Amino acid sequence: MGRRPYSDRWTTEECKSITVKFLNNYNYFDGGIRQGGMNWTSKGEKIGNIGFIVSTVEGDEYIRFQYTQTNHSSGEKTQLDYKAQLDSTPCYFGGRRWWFICPLVINGRACNRRAGILYLKNGKYFGCRHCYNLTYTSQKESHIFDWLFRKAGIDPKEGVQMLKGRR
Ligand SMILES: [Zn+2]
Repeated sequence: MGRRPYSDRWTTEECKSITVKFLNNYNYFDGGIRQGGMNWTSKGEKIGNIGFIVSTVEGDEYIRFQYTQTNHSSGEKTQLDYKAQLDSTPCYFGGRRWWFICPLVINGRACNRRAGILYLKNGKYFGCRHCYNLTYTSQKESHIFDWLFRKAGIDPKEGVQMLKGRR
C-alpha cells in the first residue's frame, strides 16, 4: 500500500480560503499529524501560498497555519504561525464531520464559531465568513479614523490600537 508523502502541496483556484472538504478529500483527518500546503492562483498567476499542519490526534485537534503576510500599503512582511482548533460532530451515517473553530478575536471577543470554510482573502489571519464581513467593515472604518488621527496629529497605527484596546 502506497503512503502519501509527508508533505504535500496543492494548487487551487479557490479564493484564498481553506475548506474542510478539501482537507477531508485528501485524508487529513486520519487521527494523526499531517503536513501540507496550498498555492492559490488567479488566471494562472500565483497570488499566495500557505503551509499548514493538521492534527486530529484525540484531545489535541487543530490546524496550524504558517505563512507570510504582506501588507498591501507598506509592503511589510509578517511571518505568521498560529493554530485554529478543530471540532468534530458525529455523522448520521457514521464517521465524523470536521469543523474549523474560527480563531479570530474581534473587539476582545473570541469568535469560536464552527465553520466549514476559513477565509484569508487579503487579511492577515484566517477567519469565518461572519468575521470577515465584520473586519471588512472595520477596515473601511479604520481608514476614516486614519484621516481623523492625522488631523489630530496622532499616528494612525497607534490610534487604531488605542481604539481596539490592544496592548
Ligand atoms: Zn469568526
